[in-house]
Amino acid sequence: LPARYGAGEKSVWVEYIQLAADYKPAVNLGQGFPDYHAPKHVTKALADIANGDNPLLMQYTRGFGHPRLVQNLSKVYSPLIGKELDAFNEILVTAGAYEALYSAILGHVDNGDEVIVIEPFFDCYDFMIRCAGGIPKFIPLKPKSNKENMTSAEWVLDEKELASLFTKRTKMLILNTPHNPLGKVFTREELEVIADLCKKHDVLCLSDEVYEWMVYEPYKHVRIATLPGMWERTITVGSAGKTFSVTGWKIGWAYCPSNLMRNLQVVHQNCVYTCPTPTQEAVARSFEVELSRIDSPECYFYSLARELLPKRDYLVKTLKENGFNPTIPDGGYFVVADWTKLGDKIDLSSETDKYKDYRFTKKFAKEAGVLAIPPSAFYSEEHKHLGENFARFCFIKKDENLALTEKLLKEWN
Ligand code: PMP
Ligand code: GLN
Repeated sequence: LPARYGAGEKSVWVEYIQLAADYKPAVNLGQGFPDYHAPKHVTKALADIANGDNPLLMQYTRGFGHPRLVQNLSKVYSPLIGKELDAFNEILVTAGAYEALYSAILGHVDNGDEVIVIEPFFDCYDFMIRCAGGIPKFIPLKPKSNKENMTSAEWVLDEKELASLFTKRTKMLILNTPHNPLGKVFTREELEVIADLCKKHDVLCLSDEVYEWMVYEPYKHVRIATLPGMWERTITVGSAGKTFSVTGWKIGWAYCPSNLMRNLQVVHQNCVYTCPTPTQEAVARSFEVELSRIDSPECYFYSLARELLPKRDYLVKTLKENGFNPTIPDGGYFVVADWTKLGDKIDLSSETDKYKDYRFTKKFAKEAGVLAIPPSAFYSEEHKHLGENFARFCFIKKDENLALTEKLLKEWN
């Protein structure tokens, strides 16, 4: 294996999806995906396309994005960023947000460039940076305390430490808001600190906003591209999988100024070239439905967070009542919970993993029948200990499965 790929260990997703297949836990709160159907109009759009009379929708479409989809993405985002997005030069449709991140990182990071990454981080960032020949520089969000009923807002960056990471070699900073796994929604003030440093040091910002529609009151999603002087240096990433609850469709996108977009296009045109036409057409039609009711509370962009809020509260309560100390997320669909108070109830000696959270989540899946993700996967080697006391649970699940989680945790306790 080329050295830049490290030891080539299985990613946490490969390992835990296999674990779910092998142990068949009664509830899988591991990988983030809904276990119930997307809105009817979304699935119907795909069925209509498959059964419809336009044979060209089964063939290749424009490489940088199906025209009907990029036009709708422009209609959705232009008002949100306060600028008319050029559908054909400032938007790229990708194979999930994954490929948007990949094309942005491979397209902009050169050998020896440094990239600032906020921990915990979506695990593939590290790999992609090293793949590009770049050097990741990590800075952890840290909880202000370990008290009960803490919210994700209390996980913060040390501003001085952040400032100290910027050097002459810094090319890019990767931001993820709303944040996976903590659910932190960065406030305007927090984003201003980041933006000021990016401007001062002439650094690009890659903003992963796949959870943009899952934000709980009183928090508001602020797009860093809308801050003064940031449009020209920001690449923003979104996901149809998250926006419409269809993670298996693997359609994502990036938007940014055309001069920055060119680098993403160069990568995309030579390794993916074009994304599936039927799913792009279906995402385009789904956006048209939502745009037609964008001012109504029925619009899925708002109803999704309303639907998720009681699920979040139920899972937080269940975890709290059963010995965990969860951080209440302000966005996204994961809860990170400290499990250490349960430490003497569970014997981890049969598990051989290096990190405690891997041992805990594996043993817990076998004993309690509930699968969670070990957050140390979201830290660099030198900071993995910061994730070891936690487990990440996904709550975009049917109410009956959240109720089953409660029952299983009570029985296990
Ligand atoms: N970024 C983050 C923070 C994620 O949690 C995920 C997983 N959905 C992705 C990117 C990748 O998204 P997609 O499934 O659209 O590739
Ligand atoms: N984004 C999802 C999560 O964090 C899925 C990631 C994946 O399957 N690679 O769980």
